Amino acid sequence: MAICRGFDQYPGVIWNVEEFARAAAVTADGLAAYVDESQRGLPPVIRRRPPREVAERLGLVRWIREGGMTPDSYAEFLAAYLDEGTRLHHPAYLGHQIAAPDFPAALADFVHGATNNPMAVYEMGASAATVEFEVLRWMLDKVGFGETGGGVLTHGGSLANLTALLAARAAAVPEAWTDGVPADLALLAPASAHYSLTRAAAILGLGERAVMPLDVDGLGRVDVARLPEALDRVRRAGRRPMALVASACSTGTGLYDDLRGIGEFCTANGVWFHVDGAHGASALLAEEHRHLLDGIELADSLIWDAHKMLRTSSLAAAVLTRREGDLDAAFRQRASYLFYGDQGFDLIGRTVECSKAELGLKVFLNLAWRGERGLGDYVARQYATAHRFWELARERPGFECPYEPESNIVCFRYGGADQAEIRERLMADGAFQLTSAEIDGVRHLRVTVMAPATDDKTLEALLDRIGGERGPGG
Ligand SMILES: *Cc1c(COP(=O)(O)O)cnc(C)c1O
Repeated sequence: MAICRGFDQYPGVIWNVEEFARAAAVTADGLAAYVDESQRGLPPVIRRRPPREVAERLGLVRWIREGGMTPDSYAEFLAAYLDEGTRLHHPAYLGHQIAAPDFPAALADFVHGATNNPMAVYEMGASAATVEFEVLRWMLDKVGFGETGGGVLTHGGSLANLTALLAARAAAVPEAWTDGVPADLALLAPASAHYSLTRAAAILGLGERAVMPLDVDGLGRVDVARLPEALDRVRRAGRRPMALVASACSTGTGLYDDLRGIGEFCTANGVWFHVDGAHGASALLAEEHRHLLDGIELADSLIWDAHKMLRTSSLAAAVLTRREGDLDAAFRQRASYLFYGDQGFDLIGRTVECSKAELGLKVFLNLAWRGERGLGDYVARQYATAHRFWELARERPGFECPYEPESNIVCFRYGGADQAEIRERLMADGAFQLTSAEIDGVRHLRVTVMAPATDDKTLEALLDRIGGERGPGG
């Protein structure tokens, strides 16, 4: 028997489930049309209307003041909202490394939005917690940490890097949690490492100055032969290496560090080896690219973003450690191992967050729908499209491509003009979205092939546009 009746006493507070179902159908139809026209490349990939005009078009002030939205007015609002946004499914979306989400993951976000099971403690969502647990087991297996490893999903790569380095700090100085951080710790990282690592060093109390640069080649890759010198420099400066960081792949160029070479050096010297695989760890799923991650099993810790190449919405990132106890030790000194007990398990001891979204479900539904194989095929396809762009660009006069891409990120220059200006012009009418990056102090244009809809035609059109803007050197 129901424990509560007389819902009509609370109109507008209790869900009107018919209204919800109608609004949900409006949402599904609106999003289906949005993705359909986006992946066909019909509307501009971005509109850059100023915020005042956006607020006006969406009627924000009025809605906030008056309320009263209905499924019909919501449909209108949603269409305008989607239209003013950035279309990640658009073939001309070649910008930041953010997934064009696949729909199973989108469904997971919807389910989370309605059920809200913040499952960092088991009793707040047994299914969500168990799904995360199994997703992590799958990831640990892929990396080669299956037997001994531990993991947790967290809201993004930056937080994941912070968490992994916290585990490294606990391993180096177990008493830092209670007594504070000694002044002699060092983090060894190439200057090309993601900025979240330097931030993490500052947040962890090491200070930015504790980040000591590793020697790199002209493309920012760690120079393995010069690692002994770097370690020497650290020790001569009176510091203890807390961790050494490699990128798989680096954000700027999309190039992978030599994980085996670096990992063997770290093992031989007793240095914690952290791999930032936020973007590129997903290549583990693609047979022909897995070799890029050769040696990853030597890492002490690794991060792997699902909202980049596993096609979930932002944010969902895994922190994985080779020894499970290391991750628990990050937040307290005594390890408590996770197991399938009858009481379940609480992942809360492994994260900065207290409550946490149902992140595992997004990854799981993409896996369940597409299979590991389908996700791997996606990675391989995007990497191949980027390679194709490189092939096309280097055949054209005026284009300079400093390296052969290893992932779906390609950097290039056109002519002698200000590259940032070229980018601005391409984006001004919403024809393309792309980014830029510095390599060895020189600004390059940067393409990241995220949308499955990007094809040769898109790439040729981009090259035509850039090449047609001005002659080389002009
Ligand atoms: C994107 C990225 C990050 C940061 O991840 P967020 O999820 O955006 O916080 C860290 N490292 C690398 C190499 C990245 O590409």
